[in-house]
Amino acid sequence: MISVEEARAYILQHFAPLEPERVDLLDALDRVLTQDIFSPINVPPHNNSAMDGYAVRAEDIRGASPQNPIRLRVVADLGAGYVPSTGVTQGTAIRIMTGAVMPPGADTIVRFEDTSEAVSQKASGKGSGAVEILSAPERGTSVRLAGEDIRQNEIVLPKGTTLRPSEIGLLASIGQSKVAVHRRPRVAILATGDELVAIDEPLTEGKIRNSNEYSNAAAVLKAGGIPIRLGIARDNVEDLTRKIRAGIDAGADLFITSAGVSVGDYDIVKDVLNTEGEMHFWQVNMKPGKPLAFGIVGKTPLLGLPGNPVSALISFETFARPAILTMLGKTRFARPYVNAILRDRAENNAGRRNYIRVHVSRNDNGEYVATTTGEQGSGILSSVTRANGLLEMPPDVLEYRPGDRVRVTMLDYPEET
Ligand code: AMP
Ligand code: MG
Repeated sequence: MISVEEARAYILQHFAPLEPERVDLLDALDRVLTQDIFSPINVPPHNNSAMDGYAVRAEDIRGASPQNPIRLRVVADLGAGYVPSTGVTQGTAIRIMTGAVMPPGADTIVRFEDTSEAVSQKASGKGSGAVEILSAPERGTSVRLAGEDIRQNEIVLPKGTTLRPSEIGLLASIGQSKVAVHRRPRVAILATGDELVAIDEPLTEGKIRNSNEYSNAAAVLKAGGIPIRLGIARDNVEDLTRKIRAGIDAGADLFITSAGVSVGDYDIVKDVLNTEGEMHFWQVNMKPGKPLAFGIVGKTPLLGLPGNPVSALISFETFARPAILTMLGKTRFARPYVNAILRDRAENNAGRRNYIRVHVSRNDNGEYVATTTGEQGSGILSSVTRANGLLEMPPDVLEYRPGDRVRVTMLDYPEET
């Protein structure tokens, strides 16, 4: 048997970040930049007002208070998006909206709340008339300075950054309508087995539905790849050969098969994979997910997952997801974990690393508590649907008891309320 770490390290040697492509900004979400991004401009481009109020000279309003209002002549009314046609001179003010460019001469904003406009509830004479200032904020108050967010010519996002909505917004603010990111990996998916019928076919005697195709394709999408679904290959040399060649011809970056790789299986899948490529058939020291195949067919790396639906998902999580993330240019694969209090008993008698499906929530004290999700058989897909985390039991740990502190890898961090 080989360890999970050995198998993963061997597999990951065969993957590298894919070449860059230039895509529309929104298509770059969750993907990784292949270039440093420099800003051609200052953001914001000009000094501007952070409040609705009056642009003034701080020295004109020294000592202003409700008891000592200072009266200024209002010479203009300036909305966001317009350039001031006049400046502020001694004894004057310009009525200004949030985001409007600071008029020449003004250095401070007094918000409406601190002026007679708030007190009288009526707008002062728009562009004419006067306003009373009721407070004396320091020079520079409520003024946003040009370049205070981003400076012209500075690196705003370094190569290697994964783009979230905030990064997408930042790129939009500097006019990057297209960006270069690593291409998404294309992942061919082939199910094998005479017992399988397609999702929309009638379930006849002795058959089961091909669920792995869907769980694998969904897992590919979730990891950021593009699934190419090849359907089902039957357990005979002709059909398997044809479909595996179709997978090679699809020019995928990764080829995933399910089933037919365990010791007890008819050797057809293994035989055909050996004929079409250079394969390893491993027994990995994990439960579920012991049988695993990896090799190269044509030029495509092929990962042969076990057939059992839970095993297929956990092996995908352990081996395929890191490969996909690597191709996307990501450098971290480990999911976040929490330290939780186990509520019930978990046992491990296989001498392998046991991946127990658990549901993690928080108790009234704010501590994480983990509950196993029932029957842990490798065919019980519902045990995964009830789980949001995996509790890994090392091969030499035979039991966890209720109350034990355990480390749980979180598959999902669902919203709590
Ligand atoms: P195998 O790896 O071929 O020994 O298959 C192990 C178990 O997984 C068997 O019970 C199969 O019926 C089941 N299985 C294989 N392929 C699929 C699939 N695509 N969808 C759902 N179950 C499957
Ligand atoms: Mg089989």
